[in-house]
Amino acid sequence: VLGIDIDDARVQVRDLQRNKTWWEPYDQCLIATGASPIRPPIPHVDAEGIHTINTLQTGIQLWEALEEAAPKQIVIVGGGYVGLEMAEALLKRDIQVAMVEMMPQVMPTVDPDVAEPVAQTLREAGVDLYLEEKVEGFEAVDGKVQGVVTSERTLPAKMVLLAVGIHPNSQLAADAELPLGVRDAIKVNERMQTPVTGVWAAGDCVESFHLVSRRPTYQGLATMANKQGRVAGLNLGGEYATFPGVMGTSITKFGETEIARTGLQTKEIEAIGWEYAAVTIDSHTRARYYPGSADIRVKLLAEKGSGRLLGGQIVGGEDAAKRIDVVVTALHAGFTAGELLNLDLAYAPPFSPVWDPVLIAARQLIKVV
Ligand SMILES: Cc1cc2nc3c(=O)[nH]c(=O)nc-3n(C[C@H](O)[C@H](O)[C@H](O)COP(=O)(O)OP(=O)(O)OC[C@H]3O[C@@H](n4cnc5c(N)ncnc54)[C@H](O)[C@@H]3O)c2cc1C
Repeated sequence: VLGIDIDDARVQVRDLQRNKTWWEPYDQCLIATGASPIRPPIPHVDAEGIHTINTLQTGIQLWEALEEAAPKQIVIVGGGYVGLEMAEALLKRDIQVAMVEMMPQVMPTVDPDVAEPVAQTLREAGVDLYLEEKVEGFEAVDGKVQGVVTSERTLPAKMVLLAVGIHPNSQLAADAELPLGVRDAIKVNERMQTPVTGVWAAGDCVESFHLVSRRPTYQGLATMANKQGRVAGLNLGGEYATFPGVMGTSITKFGETEIARTGLQTKEIEAIGWEYAAVTIDSHTRARYYPGSADIRVKLLAEKGSGRLLGGQIVGGEDAAKRIDVVVTALHAGFTAGELLNLDLAYAPPFSPVWDPVLIAARQLIKVV
């Protein structure tokens, strides 16, 4: 789709195979153009051998490039969840991984004390981790990448994976003069409607409403894209449905280490200016004596005074991360730390200590809110 003509309710379509362009009329139009990986405007960013990954097709391209070039080493730029997951996959192919991250920690969507064990796991797995180093450009010879230039050094690299975040594909909407919001994502209401009658938008291309901060936010994840798509579809089909907003929940893993977060992290609360209390506890995923019990760290944040929960983060071994769903549910319910503490969560030694780690954190939190 090359353009949307709102006045005449039609979209301009180009058939890429037959090289044909025409205008297609619509009764209702849903913009679901997703997001694209960010390619920062730095020297030689388009050199051959510098990959991004966001679709099955780019995954296949990367796979084929790996088969063909058989690189011994790859530099991953970005220590977020895509960088982490790709690092795991590349290590499994016996490829040496160097990871460059401009922040002082990996996984910038969790607080430093939760990210720290992740960095440790990466290093133990053999990843060369370069924190607080910004990639300023690439070295290229004959259009092919040869190195990654950071603020501190040049890392030799015949293949690079850029995983530094995404931006919404909102150009079609912008050209049609639809309003954009946070990070240029398309503004929609709870029914996924743009302000133009008959034009809807959903998924990675739209702005969302954050249910804890009560502010607009942008978060490109399949969980919300699917729910928004369902709501948009129901409304398009003549029903009435709403998507109230997002909590900022996400989950990933590197090797045996699981990581999850929901709500607001410390820097987001501080940016809003709310007073808060935070606790971080270390416990076990099962009764300590039970086989397979793994370490787990839980961080909870709550508003000072009211005790209203603001967010939670988890890092740990097998079965650690999905516990975040308890925190998510508590946030949706508007629970205080005390209300969370009273939850009758399930216990038997193969599943949890008597006090589930989330409840241990809540027990500490009520002392400081
Ligand atoms: C490596 C990776 C791992 C991920 N893992 C997770 C995960 O574990 N959990 C999770 O919740 N989310 C995950 N995500 C995010 C998830 O993939 C997205 O949130 C989800 O795909 C968004 O769905 P969407 O339909 O909005 O956009 P997309 O799935 O991106 O679909 C948009 C489609 O629109 C097409 N398009 C764009 N512009 C035009 C145009 N002008 N004309 C015609 N077609 C157009 C695109 O080609 C694309 O096919 C991951 C993303 C990546 C890249």
